[in-house]
Amino acid sequence: MPLVETEAIVLRTYRLGEADKIASLFTRQLGRLRAVARGAQRPKSRYGGTLEPLSHVRLWIFERENRDLLHLNSAELMESFFDMQKDYRVQLAAQYLAEVAERVLPERELNERAFRLVLAVLRALKHSGEVNRPLLYFDYWMLRLGGFLPDLETCSACGRALGEEGGYYGLGSEGLLCRECRLPGADQRVSGGALDMVQAACQAPLDRWLAEEKASPGCREARRFFEQLIENHVERKLIIREMMEGEV
Ligand SMILES: [Zn+2]
Repeated sequence: MPLVETEAIVLRTYRLGEADKIASLFTRQLGRLRAVARGAQRPKSRYGGTLEPLSHVRLWIFERENRDLLHLNSAELMESFFDMQKDYRVQLAAQYLAEVAERVLPERELNERAFRLVLAVLRALKHSGEVNRPLLYFDYWMLRLGGFLPDLETCSACGRALGEEGGYYGLGSEGLLCRECRLPGADQRVSGGALDMVQAACQAPLDRWLAEEKASPGCREARRFFEQLIENHVERKLIIREMMEGEV
C-alpha cells in the first residue's frame, strides 16, 4: 500500500515500547484501524499534540509488506477537541464516543456516515457543552447505521403497539417487549413518551435540535436503553458506562 492520505478521529492511543505509540483511529477513507506512530512518546515528537484523544486530524498512512500493523508517516491537526474535555462530563462523553466507536465499528470497513456522525457529535459537545442530546443522537444513529436499531413502536414478540407505557428490556434484549410478553430479565422500562421524542428529534440535524431551548425530557431514559442495546450487540460491558452513571 502506497502512502495514503486520510482524515481521521483519534479514538485513543497507547504506549508501544519505550518510544512509540499505537493510535486507534477512525479514518474517513479507510474505516477504523490501528497504526503505529514511531517516536510519538518522545518529548519532541513530530506528532506534537495531534494524537490527543478525539483530535480530528489529517494523516498519511502506509503499510509495510508482510506486517499486520499500519504505520503513520505524519499527522496534521484539523480540529482539536481537547480543551472541551476540561469539563469532566464532556470528557466522559468524549470517552464514551471513542469506546462505542471502537467496539461497534468493524475494522477496515468504510463508513462515511458514521464518520460524519462522530464529527458532528464532537462539535456539538464542544459548542453546546451539553451532553445528553448529543449522546442520545450518537446512540440512535450508531444503532441505526449499524443496522441494529430495533422497532421502537411495537413489541418485538407479539407486534402489538407499545403506546404510552413504552416497552421493557434487559440484559441480552435486542428489542422492546410489551407488558404481556415481558420476560423475567426484562426489568427496565423506556416510556412511550421518550421513544416518541427520540424518533422525532433524531430525524433532524443535531444542531437544529440543539437550537431548541431545552433538552427534551426522557433523554437519559432513552440513552440508558440504547446503551444496553449497544452492550448487548457487542456482547460486553462498556467500561465507560459505569463511570458515567450519576455524572452524565
Ligand atoms: Zn408483546
